[in-house]
Amino acid sequence: MNIGILCGNHMPDLMKKPEKIKVETPYGEVIVYASKLGAHDLFFIHRHGEQSNLPPHRVNHRGNIQAFASSHVSCILSVGTAGSMKKEIRPGDLVIPHDFIDVTKSRSQTFFDEKRVHVDMTEPFCSTLREALLQSCDKTRDVTFHEKGVYLVTEGPRLETAAEIKMYSMVADIVGMTMVPEVVLAREKGICFASLCLVCNMAAGLQNRLTADEIASVYTKKEPVISKVLQLTIESLDQKRSCHCPVDVSKATL
Ligand SMILES: [Zn+2]
Repeated sequence: MNIGILCGNHMPDLMKKPEKIKVETPYGEVIVYASKLGAHDLFFIHRHGEQSNLPPHRVNHRGNIQAFASSHVSCILSVGTAGSMKKEIRPGDLVIPHDFIDVTKSRSQTFFDEKRVHVDMTEPFCSTLREALLQSCDKTRDVTFHEKGVYLVTEGPRLETAAEIKMYSMVADIVGMTMVPEVVLAREKGICFASLCLVCNMAAGLQNRLTADEIASVYTKKEPVISKVLQLTIESLDQKRSCHCPVDVSKATL
């Protein structure tokens, strides 16, 4: 099976001898790195672009997901960082979200600008992929993980105010800036999608302000663990999908 890895940070160690490929999409050129793991072909994309410099509100989400689709990717494992809005979810913990709330403002959320397509988001994440991630976390040492979580997606690039976090924390557990629209676009392409979120800080008002370096250091420390969880997850995946993610979007029109 072709498996995509979408990440905001370094390419994980499990990508051995990656081959750099330029993929042309209607949304611009996207650099994809290809590698193999067992029977699976892996495709890695830097979420923020090859130079890792695009801020969250300018990420080429449609280009990234289209490049995976053009590479015949069936499953996407998305890795990202998040802030915690709950005291029991601490920096260094992993969260596998089961739902999201979207408060972004200016992003293209669909491949269908000329057609009325409404994909189902009752269960935004692939249950099979989520289960594989959970089992892999369970088998990995030095991991504290949370089996469920609601991820609230903000527009950024600014961080949230303390008042916003007070409100958001009533309806969600973690906060970040990138998961929408990538999860939505993957569904439009019928691609399985699940997310592995590393909590790097407590959100505004729940701790003293952290520097970007302090947040990055949490990621660097946990990078080997994330790579291990991804590897175990990919190794556990079958060649064939048995979930409901392959959607025929032509039937989702009005
Ligand atoms: Zn699926």
